[in-house]
Amino acid sequence: MPTGSEIRRTFLTFFEKKGHREVHSSSLVPANDPTLLFTNAGMNQFKDVFLGLEKRDYNRATTSQKCVRAGGKHNDLENVGFTNRHHTFFEMLGNFSFGDYFKKDAIAYAWELFTSPYWFNLPKEKLYATIFKGENGVPRDAEAYDLWLSQGVPKERIYEFGSKDNFWQMGDTGPCGPCSEIHYDMGVIASELGHGTTAPACEFGCDCGRYVELWNLVFMQFDRDATGTLSLLPKPSIDTGLGLERMAAVLQGVISNYDTDLFTPLIKRAAELTGASLKQELDKEAKTKSAASLRVIADHSRAATFLISDGVIPLNEGRGYVLRKIIRRAITHGRLLGQTKPFLHQMVFAVRDLMQDAYPELKESTDRVSKTVLAEETRFAHTLDAGLRELQEEFGDLGLTRAAIFAAKKGLSLNLGPAVELLPSTPQSEAKIIAENIFHSDELEDEFLKQPYIYRLPGAIAFKLYDTFGLQRDFIEDACRDAGVIFDATGFDRAMEEQRTRARASWKGAVKQTANPVYQQLPKSEFEGYRRTRSDNCAVLAIIKGGQGVQELKPGEKGEIILDHTPFYAESGGQVGDRGLLYADDHNTVVAEVTNTYAPIQGVRAHQVIAKQPIRVGDKLDAVVNADLRAATMRNHTATHLLHAGLREVLGKHVKQAGSLVAPNHLRFDFSHFTGVEDEELQDIEDIINKEVLVNEKIEVIENVPIDVAVNEYHAMALFGEKYGDRVRVIKIGDFSTELCGGTHTSQTGEIGLIKILKEGSVSSGVRRIEAVTGEGSLHHFRKDHELEEVVAGLTSREADAPPAEVLRAELERKDAEIKRLTRELDQVRMKSASSSAANLGDKIKNIGGVSVLAFRSDDLNRSQLRSLGDQLREKIGSPSVVVVGTVTANRPAVNVSATATLLSANQIIGPIAALIGGKGGGRDDFAEAGGKDPSGIDAALNETYVVVERLLANPKG
Ligand code: ATP
Ligand code: MG
Repeated sequence: MPTGSEIRRTFLTFFEKKGHREVHSSSLVPANDPTLLFTNAGMNQFKDVFLGLEKRDYNRATTSQKCVRAGGKHNDLENVGFTNRHHTFFEMLGNFSFGDYFKKDAIAYAWELFTSPYWFNLPKEKLYATIFKGENGVPRDAEAYDLWLSQGVPKERIYEFGSKDNFWQMGDTGPCGPCSEIHYDMGVIASELGHGTTAPACEFGCDCGRYVELWNLVFMQFDRDATGTLSLLPKPSIDTGLGLERMAAVLQGVISNYDTDLFTPLIKRAAELTGASLKQELDKEAKTKSAASLRVIADHSRAATFLISDGVIPLNEGRGYVLRKIIRRAITHGRLLGQTKPFLHQMVFAVRDLMQDAYPELKESTDRVSKTVLAEETRFAHTLDAGLRELQEEFGDLGLTRAAIFAAKKGLSLNLGPAVELLPSTPQSEAKIIAENIFHSDELEDEFLKQPYIYRLPGAIAFKLYDTFGLQRDFIEDACRDAGVIFDATGFDRAMEEQRTRARASWKGAVKQTANPVYQQLPKSEFEGYRRTRSDNCAVLAIIKGGQGVQELKPGEKGEIILDHTPFYAESGGQVGDRGLLYADDHNTVVAEVTNTYAPIQGVRAHQVIAKQPIRVGDKLDAVVNADLRAATMRNHTATHLLHAGLREVLGKHVKQAGSLVAPNHLRFDFSHFTGVEDEELQDIEDIINKEVLVNEKIEVIENVPIDVAVNEYHAMALFGEKYGDRVRVIKIGDFSTELCGGTHTSQTGEIGLIKILKEGSVSSGVRRIEAVTGEGSLHHFRKDHELEEVVAGLTSREADAPPAEVLRAELERKDAEIKRLTRELDQVRMKSASSSAANLGDKIKNIGGVSVLAFRSDDLNRSQLRSLGDQLREKIGSPSVVVVGTVTANRPAVNVSATATLLSANQIIGPIAALIGGKGGGRDDFAEAGGKDPSGIDAALNETYVVVERLLANPKG
């Protein structure tokens, strides 16, 4: 029986023998393709080739491509664990023709590989083919039908379907065409697939899992324009996708992908790590449930490992969010199996052991990957706790709501304050607490508790817990069951669907267009900017204005100019495009100002210009880059490489570039790292890289290196999400730094002058950003610093050699202490004046039913001062009494109540008073306090005291 690795190899070898170039899988993070969340098919890395934006030196290719379908248009996340054939991460085997062979060969190759005794040797009678039946004005694919027949597929096993299954398109516009699929009859007994034991055998088309789609052959035959009209592509192309895991199941004679050698070691390890296999006494339901959980863990650990290895990190949006969901789903399934400690980070090594031969990048990345997973496991444990607390509070709210409704029916006004304070646990216990604390009447209490109640956790709230707190649905359902609350599944699904629609909409934004034909027909312009900043006699090959090719640009007009050779660097790899001037062939007259340079398609350099003189196609021009700006940019670019290497040296090898901007005036560098960089670390980094500058190391540029050599022999660092060709350019700075890079660099490190790090901060969780300057930028920076120093010197008296930062800090600390002392004094004075103004209170104290009642206002007191004023007054007046003091401080009103009368509770008195200052209050029987929003109500609130006391004494329970 062939192993998964052997099947992968066999596929690639078969197509190599048919003249295909074996191309390595591209990253799961699509290079320069904002339309795509993750690489989800073999064709992704060739998209620009199919669109005519890029040319390769081969026109047949074969790959085993890492794919993730867990977000965006293709999302199989929720299927995983419950079907035998869907994964979040899987490998897609494919063969591609770029305008070379078409349908006939594609079908013949597929059939040969599948059925030939030398290759996969599948039994022909178990194979089915599908074709496009014709729909929406696109004709039936009769050609494919005949081709399948001619391979010997009987017509009973060729099925025809519509656009949904058998028509493929890259986007709303662009290449599209019919497809044909090959399916396999797993021949399983129906009962195993949920038909029930007595059901008759099902037929092709049944989605029970008996018939499994293995291979999809796409025939890119049309180009769709913006109006929806199809035209025939001059060079039709082929794109196919065969799921490796499904092929392994078929060739290894098992029904489920999870029973193949690509998964069994992972499932075993997952069982060990979660302790699942140790549970002997599983009943039938639990057994299937735990099997599903193990599959989910096995699947998700593959996805997480490969995604993180390719540079994705757990975040709250975009790709990182999907990764986070995957990891958290795996952890939750671990918890369902009883594992509450971190375990998933260990799975990473199992994935590496299984897959490193096919994907050597795992060898280098697993330590970093495992750390990232562990960090997320720890973080999630916290979130889970917070989420569970939130859930409990929701349950508590359900109880409160019910009490409020009951009270409203009885015509009671309820002060829910105290009940909210009590930690809710379940709606029932909540209800009991409320009953005891609020109703103050045994009959009401009984009546309330006897009421039939049905609690339902609203779907939208459950979804919020799922979405923001990461509580998995199973988890919430279980908790609801335990608490006797109904889980609103319909509402939950609706909320989920709404969120999906939103997510989809936000990823739709940029649809890639077929390249503007104006650019497609051009030969590549030769780039001379590595060696010089001026090129003479450059021929104007084309002029583009408003997306159209034109013959001439008039003075004052904006447009793009393509030259046959140019020294202008087109924006890429973070380095900004060059600016400069174009001169007429008299070498003197400026004909245009170049404001930027970019590459609309690979190899073509477009100069964005404002014309000063008429420019025509065929003119000869001198192209002159602004050399000062370029030199400043080069300094920053070389400094970026030094910084990257310095960060790895000081912080560790997990640091990888996550993005960069190299401009003339500064550089910005984003990198993966889990915590902030300490000041001392930053200084170390700055020291190390400036040492490299001072030794004036030569920068070696090695051109045209095969990518394998660059990575494996030079150990050049390749970047995430960057697209590299077969041959690359390597920038080597002594033994310190080696990177793949197409940018422009200084020839010696000394030219950089000095690198000054200005800022370090967080971009998103796990990604940090450093901003720095070099050369003249550093000079400006130090000049500013010097000015500051002069100011400090002017403000303080300091020793000549004391560092100004410390002097300034000491000075500010001194002033701070002074302010604190003065504030304290002011407070004391205020308190004193409050106490003395309370000296003659005689007329304010009223005797109500034998209780001395006093309401008193004194402004500008803080909470504790207010409290102590209350205490003073209460002591002065004696018992039984009610003392209410109020204040308005910084425009916020506050009151507190002390009560020493047996029949009066401070907690009852505070409510109506607080209401008048727009607040709520609570407390105990002897003391309660409240803050409010409306300072204008303070006097009315204080006067209310007398009224409330009178009312309460008349009717103690009300
Ligand atoms: P299905 O309908 O079974 O989900 P699909 O139509 O989405 O498949 P394609 O987009 O045509 O599949 O992808 C090509 C091949 O990749 C499929 O024939 C299948 O073998 C494999 N494949 C697709 N999705 C997955 C997945 N989630 N897990 C494993 N293999 C997959
Ligand atoms: Mg699918």
